[in-house]
Amino acid sequence: MKHVIIGAGVAGITAAKTIKEIDKNAEVVVIGDEMFFPYKRFLLTEFLCGSIKRDELIFFSMELLKELGIKLRKGEYVKTIEPSRKLIKLLHNEVVHYDKLLIATGGRPGLGLVLRPYKKHIQCYYSMNDILILKKKLPEIQKCIVFGEGVSCLDLISGLCNLEKQVTYIIKGVRADFGLKGSEFYGELHDFLEEKGVEIITEDQVASIEKMNRHYRVETLKQKELTADIVFAWDYYKPKISCIEGTVIGKKLGILVNVRLETSVEHIYAAGDCVEIYHPGIKGYWINFGLPNAFEQGTIAGKNMLGQNEEYKIHEAIAFNLMGKSLKARWWK
Ligand SMILES: Cc1cc2nc3c(=O)[nH]c(=O)nc-3n(C[C@H](O)[C@H](O)[C@H](O)COP(=O)(O)OP(=O)(O)OC[C@H]3O[C@@H](n4cnc5c(N)ncnc54)[C@H](O)[C@@H]3O)c2cc1C
Repeated sequence: MKHVIIGAGVAGITAAKTIKEIDKNAEVVVIGDEMFFPYKRFLLTEFLCGSIKRDELIFFSMELLKELGIKLRKGEYVKTIEPSRKLIKLLHNEVVHYDKLLIATGGRPGLGLVLRPYKKHIQCYYSMNDILILKKKLPEIQKCIVFGEGVSCLDLISGLCNLEKQVTYIIKGVRADFGLKGSEFYGELHDFLEEKGVEIITEDQVASIEKMNRHYRVETLKQKELTADIVFAWDYYKPKISCIEGTVIGKKLGILVNVRLETSVEHIYAAGDCVEIYHPGIKGYWINFGLPNAFEQGTIAGKNMLGQNEEYKIHEAIAFNLMGKSLKARWWK
């Protein structure tokens, strides 16, 4: 039986490991578009700040992959899936057949219509590649503008503060808040960030970015003019599912799955940040972002691809450490 997994992140690699641990004769191929061995994305900020070394980021080493008999094809992008012929096509048109397929392509910060024209002036903050680029720029950076939402945004801000950079945080809302629940922060995140020296501009957003010699001039929707050495910005974080375009695989914002992580197409599963799953509490589909979910869904998807019948149970919140304080964030409002 050939199991093909698209995406070498936590969900994909955990599924691969689960399959090989249960059935060592199963053929498992993981195809990931990043050039690196699977790494711990959630520790990227620690690496940026120099608190851990690059090899401590590795989630699955080459030796471990070999030992388990998992074939990793890194640096390969899956362009399309043809469920009727049980095959996928890579960017260079190579065809790979599967018996069971797992889509674990994660999510990605994205730019809306206003920010898109300024893409070349915006520093991304999601992948190892982004962080390697940023690390090189660090010595020349002091003033930073951050416009975005989500845990990775808080992580970025705490990293920049740690590095003693000056941070201006622009938010659309009245106060910085992440639907926090049962944390030391309840209702206090905004004040906490300000105490840490973060300047917060509320009810506003980045409207344009212009490069001026070695700096950037940012104009906000409310016509505030700011300058910075670097601009981090994103409008949303959403599932990266371009490989299912044109297929019959059911989707909304993410790939729709049932509690067994099966998609609408037989033999195709999905797990991790690319997935949308029914939440009985909110009576609707939601994207279950976050590391614990990616781990758990990867394990369950791996088992179910081998014919088991495990069900995934929703995690209400993810735990996160922000500058020494713990918080729990929910991903829906
Ligand atoms: C800086 C930072 C800090 C974070 N901190 C936390 C935290 O403290 N707690 C927490 O819960 N979460 C945290 N997160 C979020 C967490 O890392 C993600 O929820 C988790 O990585 C999701 O795992 P995944 O396997 O679903 O997706 P990903 O880790 O995104 O992996 C998916 C992989 O698939 C690849 N891929 C996509 N499309 C294709 C294609 N067509 N072909 C081939 N490959 C493809 C992607 O490039 C990627 O390598 C953080 C994220 C960041 C960026």
